[in-house]
Amino acid sequence: MRQSKLFTKTKKEVPTDEMSKNAELLLRGGFIHKEIAGVYSYLPLGLSVLNKIENIIREEMNAIGGQEIVMTALQNPELWKKTDRWDDQKVDIWFKTKLKNDTELGLGFTHEEPLTNIMKNYISSYRDLPCYVYQFQTKFRNEIRAKSGVMRTREFMMKDLYSFSKDEKEHNEFYEKSKEAYKNIFKRVGIGHLTYITFASGGSFSKFSHEFQTVSATGEDTIYINEENNVAVNKEVCDDEVISSLGLEKNKLVEKKAVEVGNIFTLGTRFSDALDLTYQTEKGDKKPVFMGSYGIGPARLMGAVVEVLADDKGIIWPESIAPFKVHLLSLGEEENVKKQAEYVYDTLMKKNIEVLFDDRKGISPGEKFAEADLLGMPYRVVISARSMKDNGIEIKKRNEEKGQSVSLEELLKLLASNH
Ligand code: ATP
Ligand code: MG
Repeated sequence: MRQSKLFTKTKKEVPTDEMSKNAELLLRGGFIHKEIAGVYSYLPLGLSVLNKIENIIREEMNAIGGQEIVMTALQNPELWKKTDRWDDQKVDIWFKTKLKNDTELGLGFTHEEPLTNIMKNYISSYRDLPCYVYQFQTKFRNEIRAKSGVMRTREFMMKDLYSFSKDEKEHNEFYEKSKEAYKNIFKRVGIGHLTYITFASGGSFSKFSHEFQTVSATGEDTIYINEENNVAVNKEVCDDEVISSLGLEKNKLVEKKAVEVGNIFTLGTRFSDALDLTYQTEKGDKKPVFMGSYGIGPARLMGAVVEVLADDKGIIWPESIAPFKVHLLSLGEEENVKKQAEYVYDTLMKKNIEVLFDDRKGISPGEKFAEADLLGMPYRVVISARSMKDNGIEIKKRNEEKGQSVSLEELLKLLASNH
């Protein structure tokens, strides 16, 4: 992609009401656009990151047997009345709307009810179980606070998977698999080393749910980490009894601020009972389906990556989710420099290496460097009069101080081996 053709531009300033680092850097870089508080649009660079995160999640969900669908945002109140989640006294984050004839509708904040209802058409026998269904879909939540940039918004993409099992034992097997899939996801997006599986409040069917919490000073949650076992306990459930029931020692727990990037939950038969999702066992008895839910917010993940990996110059994208692997800068107006930069760009494109080519005229080298730092591509490749006096090309990793001078051949080798 030629930067001269990219419609978005970087900015030096952001609205003063943006207080989070992720929103500040993503807005300045032109990754996102703020519509209103807690509501953001995704522009080409931001959408590219979001799509890459979604694809990693999709691969991991497919690997554990997930089948992808997409459900509607508009919700039928009748289903939610059956589970006692329609009343604003019970659920205080609903956005609701009305048809012309005054019939009320909701904008879904989660999808247990409609999916349980859909599955009534397809689950009737033990032969139909287990099954796992997921989607990437826009949720609406009337959040009170929207101060964490893209990490807490009122309209956001969620990957939500729901599991349907014959009984608790079958459910637990999948639940454990899902933990591994989640660990893979956070590792692949580059925050595995900062993310802890965390005991959090459960529901009527299990004592705990499990959150995936990424340590970050801007996190809204407080967790207590046990480094040895690589687990944590959310403050909301962390008392002496819980600590000892988990076999942990109080004096080994370290308090940290963290962001909940994912959440897995045993639902049991709460929804299947209320909506009458049953199956016939091998013996011919009728039993309720045993359910679980598994959520991840790709945008919150993107915000968390920015929060924990950025430096004072800007974003540092892990290669797995960077919009482009390489940011190629052409510096100066000399003809031979421009020609060489064009040639390097063509060569990288032919090798299918994702490259953003800063071919813009009349922008100073200092500005181009600052922008490359802000945008955060993993490799900065520079063609300038100076680089051409050396081996031709300068390459520097975004998270390293010093670059090196290389030939085109060496550049291709470097970019092929580091991925
Ligand atoms: P929180 O406790 O942060 O309010 P939650 O427990 O209500 O979140 P879930 O319903 O479990 O969240 O949603 C699953 C995932 O969706 C979360 O782990 C998070 O990654 C993401 N998510 C939840 N709320 C938001 C939001 N307002 N904006 C962006 N992502 C969100
Ligand atoms: Mg939560």
